[in-house]
Amino acid sequence: MPLVIAMDGPSGSGKSSASKGVARALGLRYLDTGAMYRAMTWWMLREGVPVDDPAAVAARAAEPVIESGTDPDGPAITVDGADVSAPIRTREVTNAVSAVSSVPAVRERLVALQREIIGAGGIVVEGRDIGTVVAPDAAVKVYLTASEEVRAARRAKELAADPAASVTVTRAEQARRDRLDSTRTASPLAKAGGAVEIDSSGLGLDEVIEAVLRLARA
Ligand code: C5P
Repeated sequence: MPLVIAMDGPSGSGKSSASKGVARALGLRYLDTGAMYRAMTWWMLREGVPVDDPAAVAARAAEPVIESGTDPDGPAITVDGADVSAPIRTREVTNAVSAVSSVPAVRERLVALQREIIGAGGIVVEGRDIGTVVAPDAAVKVYLTASEEVRAARRAKELAADPAASVTVTRAEQARRDRLDSTRTASPLAKAGGAVEIDSSGLGLDEVIEAVLRLARA
């Protein structure tokens, strides 16, 4: 059976870098499911859909054609054929994504797409519900965490080009997003049964990757 590695955890826990590193080391594909929720959110905002209205979001959830690449060195994501890798990382999208991803119709559609991609062969998949919902049979399940301070500092670094994204602002916005992601009714962020928790606060990227590789080899 192809190897599936599920990497779940809150924002800023270091999932993306670690997942890409593990995929490269093992010659596996890589899927960023958060990018798919961001792409859906970007499209809703562009269409003027009120993202805090679940019925309005659900009514349009089937429309955008979202395609995700699986190359760990350049995982392109497109909406209706246009590359949205950059615009899905703006603060506007980041602050709206939890509302959109809490809508069941959005999740049903994206989970189906994700399972289709996963079914094509070995892969490292990062997200919030991979070990619990998307791929509960994954051979390796990791729940990656980090202290709130470390996570906020990582996010602020990513948003360094944005003058309003101070550590304090980022921390408040991140706390809000994590609260929404872990308290929503539909597939909340949670540690999956059988998942191994890794706290990356005091670890370097190579150490996190090595810890996951050890689990994959076991
Ligand atoms: O991982 P990233 O921070 O890019 O994810 C963006 C958002 O997408 C999360 O805050 C969450 O609301 C949503 N998400 C989700 N389920 C996943 C991956 C991401 O609900 N599997």
